Amino acid sequence: MADSKLKGDFEKNAASGDAPSSVIRTDAIIIGAGPVGLFSVLELGMQEMKAHVVDVLDKPGGQCAELYPEKAIFDIPALPGVTGQELVDKLMLQIKPYNPTFHLGEMAEKLEELPTGGWRLTTNTGTVLEAPVVVVAAGCGAFMPKKPSIPHIDEYEGKSVFYNVRSKDAFKGKKVLIAGGGDSALDWVRELQPLAAEVNLIHRRDEFRGAPDSVSKMRALVEDGKVGLHIGEIIKLNGKDGQLESVTVKNLKGETFNIECDTLLPFYGLNMKLGPLAKWGLNMDKNQIEVDTEKFQTSAPGIFAIGDINSYPGKRRIILSGFHEAALMAHAAVPIAFPNKKPNLMHSTTKGDAEKKAAKKDKAAKPEPKAPKI
Ligand SMILES: Cc1cc2nc3c(=O)[nH]c(=O)nc-3n(C[C@H](O)[C@H](O)[C@H](O)COP(=O)(O)OP(=O)(O)OC[C@H]3O[C@@H](n4cnc5c(N)ncnc54)[C@H](O)[C@@H]3O)c2cc1C
Repeated sequence: MADSKLKGDFEKNAASGDAPSSVIRTDAIIIGAGPVGLFSVLELGMQEMKAHVVDVLDKPGGQCAELYPEKAIFDIPALPGVTGQELVDKLMLQIKPYNPTFHLGEMAEKLEELPTGGWRLTTNTGTVLEAPVVVVAAGCGAFMPKKPSIPHIDEYEGKSVFYNVRSKDAFKGKKVLIAGGGDSALDWVRELQPLAAEVNLIHRRDEFRGAPDSVSKMRALVEDGKVGLHIGEIIKLNGKDGQLESVTVKNLKGETFNIECDTLLPFYGLNMKLGPLAKWGLNMDKNQIEVDTEKFQTSAPGIFAIGDINSYPGKRRIILSGFHEAALMAHAAVPIAFPNKKPNLMHSTTKGDAEKKAAKKDKAAKPEPKAPKI
């Protein structure tokens, strides 16, 4: 179980194909780090399959973390009331032993079949992953930023206008203007203020949707003169060749003024869009991927769809259904990833014991080196 070690037929394909110079090879690619994608890491891990997880958001958790982090969920077995974020934190802890690799802030864009089987996924940032198994756990689609309707903003996107923060270091020494009134805007004001040359916040009114604690912390930074707060609407971007120099703002009285900045981070919320996966040629039922209910496999062998994204008779879009689908998917994925292997049917308790015994045996075979006599 390791990256770069291809199994069976898949090994031959990758060797003979036109592989790009930098390819990550693994056992399973999971698209979506929502609760169902995260739980798949555990189910695949128990079958000794290593997973790479891709999500367009910059943090794991899907709808739970993005739409209702503080709302309680009451129908997760044995957890009588757990908030969306708590569930995500617990899942992250539970999958830690399986050491998944996350590719966050990346959109799964292109999925191609390798010449004689297996799949190649390319993300919008150029990451190339190959695996015999692909698990689409994409929920209701990718979370996409709501873009402000400022003329010519597309000319600045990716150069000096960004809708997410992949690395805080990219904003070191910059004159950053953050736009929005929700938690993302307030959190990034706090996070970037110590390392940016200047941080300004702009919102259309002097009331904020973010958590009260985040609002208080932002106001304290404003009072200390560490952050500038402006009420109004950005109506124009000023700069050249995609590099921002300032923005023109119209305030509530209709007056206009400029704010100097070299970076704009608009955080105006997110929409869910099916996105690129609608074009991958999988059989669809409106906006959902059709699967069977034995393996949760799609119309393409080796590509599974679980969680809110799939469709079958009687489907319920709840987390519990997605967890069940992940367990069955992982069993069905084993012979695809390891053609000569049968799925491990041990309960996790038995497997845990077996792993402990193996570790003990290993330790006994290799005695600890004795401390040198002084
Ligand atoms: C307000 C609210 C309350 C809810 N309460 C409950 C409840 O009490 N109990 C319950 O069981 N369920 C509840 N649900 C539903 C539950 O949240 C969903 O069933 C669950 O989140 C589905 O998980 P998922 O992993 O399938 O998808 P999601 O949580 O939607 O995660 C999918 C992830 O895939 C990513 N993605 C999609 N396409 C791409 C792509 N092309 N490239 C990269 N990333 C991509 C998305 O960005 C997202 O992060 C609630 C939902 C809402 C909105």
